[in-house]
Amino acid sequence: MIKLHDKHFKPFLSQAQVQAAVKNVADKIAADYKDETPIFVGVLNGAFMFVADFLKEYQHPCEVSFVKLSSYSGLTSTGIVETLLDIPVNIKGKSVIILEDIIDTGRTLKELVHLFSNTHVKEFKIATLFHKPSVYNGEYKIDYIGMEIPDKFIVGYGLDYNELGRNLKEVYQLNQNTMINLVIFGKPGAGKGTQAEFLKSEYNLKHISTGDVFRYNIKNNTELGQLAKSYMDKGDLVPDEVTIKMLQDEVEKNPQAKGFIFDGFPRTTAQAEALDAFLDSKDMKINATIALEANDEVLINRLLERGKISGRPDDQDENKIRNRFEEYNLKTAPLITYYEGKNKFYSVNGIGEIAEITKRLKAVIETL
Ligand code: AMP
Repeated sequence: MIKLHDKHFKPFLSQAQVQAAVKNVADKIAADYKDETPIFVGVLNGAFMFVADFLKEYQHPCEVSFVKLSSYSGLTSTGIVETLLDIPVNIKGKSVIILEDIIDTGRTLKELVHLFSNTHVKEFKIATLFHKPSVYNGEYKIDYIGMEIPDKFIVGYGLDYNELGRNLKEVYQLNQNTMINLVIFGKPGAGKGTQAEFLKSEYNLKHISTGDVFRYNIKNNTELGQLAKSYMDKGDLVPDEVTIKMLQDEVEKNPQAKGFIFDGFPRTTAQAEALDAFLDSKDMKINATIALEANDEVLINRLLERGKISGRPDDQDENKIRNRFEEYNLKTAPLITYYEGKNKFYSVNGIGEIAEITKRLKAVIETL
């Protein structure tokens, strides 16, 4: 992912894919024009890189020139097209082939056709490296196309976002963020893990439970597991540096995720701040923190019951459970104010049938 001005862009075409598209155009034109001397007219600024690489692929007699129009401002075509550099002289009787970097709506193309309309050229052809067929108005036939692409804003290889990105060798696509990232919040035993299991399939999200990751590491006796074990066994929180690093690694492992459910994280203000900064660096954000509410007596019973089945040492001893609640009250509860301050805190009654509680959570998520 790269950042240009305020926007993030993700890799779309590699250098090799771009070069293959350039060669594709050059080969097709060569097949038609190798026996005469056409004049290629590049459309500035965007086409300068395409024109340079195109000519290296086109090893037959030809002339080259440029015109300059302007139509893009920011992310969308403004529709206002100006001529900034006029058509070359002495093109009468020649075959002119326009070289465009991209044709999307076709508005610039209309202006180009207009520009060359009374020039008495032998032939007027249009070639473009990239074409967005889904938005093209279809007014003119495009004679040569390097590659058809979807209607996403792209930068790189001559194309810019407010003048940045032209020097990239690859092509990048605007990262339109449609992710949902949720924090499922609550005391131990509130049902975070149980509900996250339902929500992850419902909304196609990746569920990250920090407790589960620690337990997995303890089971496999990793360095991280050894570090976490002494804290977890007592019902204390694992130090922030360790937990934050681990959480970031888990997110990094899932670059394709449509979103995340963070379960058991953040549990301290430092973790919440680190999460916000980390997500921001990836152009992601927390959409909502949803708390499952239940009173301590209900929770203690649930945990002791769970301890009989799961064998979790921290679930089998009421003192350890009470210590976890204390950790929660002291370190985690302040996050309610933290997320309320960002208008992201939602509270849901966590007592009742599992399916009923899932419904309550879904009702909150649907409003996001
Ligand atoms: P859980 O499975 O969420 O109840 O977590 C079990 C234990 O793992 C906690 O009591 C902590 O010792 C440790 N742990 C899990 N998540 C965190 C976190 N975000 N920060 C610190 N320790 C954590």
